[in-house]
Amino acid sequence: MGVQSIHNNNVHVLVIPYPAQGHISPLIQFAKRLVSKGIKTTFATTHYTVKSITAPNISVEPISDGFDESGFSQANDVELFLTSFKSNGSKTVSNLIHKYQKTSTPITCIVYDSFLPWALDVAKKHEIYGAAFFTNSAAVCNIFCRIHHGLIEIPVKVDDLPLIVPGIPPLNCRDLPSFIRFPESYPAYMAMKLSQFSNLNLADWMFVNTFQALEGEVMKGLTELFPAKLIGPMVPSAYLDGRIKGDKGYGANLWKPLSEDCINWLETKPSKSVAYISFGSMVSLTQEQIEEIAFGLKESEVNFLWVLRESEQGKLPKGYKDLIKEKGIIVTWCNQLELLAHDAVGCFVTHCGWNSTLESLSLGVPVVCLPQWADQLPDAKFLEEIWEVGVRPKEDENGVVKREEFVLSLKIVMEGERSEVIRKNANEWKKLARDAVSEGGSSDKNIDDFVDQLMDNDKNGHLISGKK
Ligand code: UDP
Repeated sequence: MGVQSIHNNNVHVLVIPYPAQGHISPLIQFAKRLVSKGIKTTFATTHYTVKSITAPNISVEPISDGFDESGFSQANDVELFLTSFKSNGSKTVSNLIHKYQKTSTPITCIVYDSFLPWALDVAKKHEIYGAAFFTNSAAVCNIFCRIHHGLIEIPVKVDDLPLIVPGIPPLNCRDLPSFIRFPESYPAYMAMKLSQFSNLNLADWMFVNTFQALEGEVMKGLTELFPAKLIGPMVPSAYLDGRIKGDKGYGANLWKPLSEDCINWLETKPSKSVAYISFGSMVSLTQEQIEEIAFGLKESEVNFLWVLRESEQGKLPKGYKDLIKEKGIIVTWCNQLELLAHDAVGCFVTHCGWNSTLESLSLGVPVVCLPQWADQLPDAKFLEEIWEVGVRPKEDENGVVKREEFVLSLKIVMEGERSEVIRKNANEWKKLARDAVSEGGSSDKNIDDFVDQLMDNDKNGHLISGKK
């Protein structure tokens, strides 16, 4: 059956991610959910990233950020990249809308990454619907939304700590997103985080990649300012409800995963004996921090599989790979979900990026939190203190987690009485994540409502906004 023939409506959604791994993955997953509900969906991403997408039943189209050869690394400057993406992106998304206008399936709605508020302006210019998609936690949305509305003053001063935000536990210095502790150090990122809310009043829907059981409390009291629907976790269906056949991976890898090497190695290890370590696609650690982790792993004697991007591997102690022998394997990139789902993995040492956070919860894997910056800091707070699925080792006065602290946390999460409680909690979150996206679950219902409203609008030609 062709893609066209499964649609019995005229709805056509264009999904546009920010072109980074942690944004493309959840948005493509959302596109798959829409397709599974009978909606024609097109995924538009930059020339540089478009070749990494393999998603059955989704049309993929290139748009331009002005750096078509190698994307962000070609621009090498956040402000330059964002300005260029705004102007080139607006033009090329407009062209795409024109192109489809001449077909039997014109685009009727844009679901855009909230980092790209200009995409909403394009939607409105063409008189089609626009829905913002937030790829971070509801807690982070809550904080930045309040800053935008002048309800939290930045920079947050030490005297004002802990920061009290309705719906969120008191936040101390080490829990705050780094942008709001030191806004002047990250002007371009700070401006981008706030720009998400600049025209949000024009959006017909807003979605957050989280779920009711996880962050329903955080959304309480925020509905007036931010009437978002929780639709996550956007993790491939095979790891959750299994309703999308064959959906075992996001279908978007910006680097080549060394799947076979990893799985073959894991197969030789006992159940729950391996610590899987990854700092995501962007974080760069100091040499000192990498050394502390490296020696900590050696001292702990746990088995480990460490993802360390090419650019980070030079920071390893000399001769380290020979030293660890069969105890550990270090790879440049892997299929993280496949590994987290493997029985040999007993713990995830994570930088607490939001996708990694959702993946650990969805797959029921306990965590050791080593957040580095930005939203990773509040994510770690929730993982340790609210969801109680792991431990965050203490940093020294220079922000470095020393090997003793790290080993202690590894032991707490992997051995002994507390590890059993942590594992039990992790398994409960796994079930709740699955419930949320299964038929009739809170996230599933919110996606169904969106789909129904789009179809009604299609039939009646008027808007039933998701905000009302
Ligand atoms: N990831 C992966 N292989 C790796 C490391 C990471 O597939 O070796 C994926 C991971 O599953 C997650 C994404 O990359 O979906 C990282 O997103 P996250 O929000 O955790 O961190 P970011 O990279 O945005 O800092």
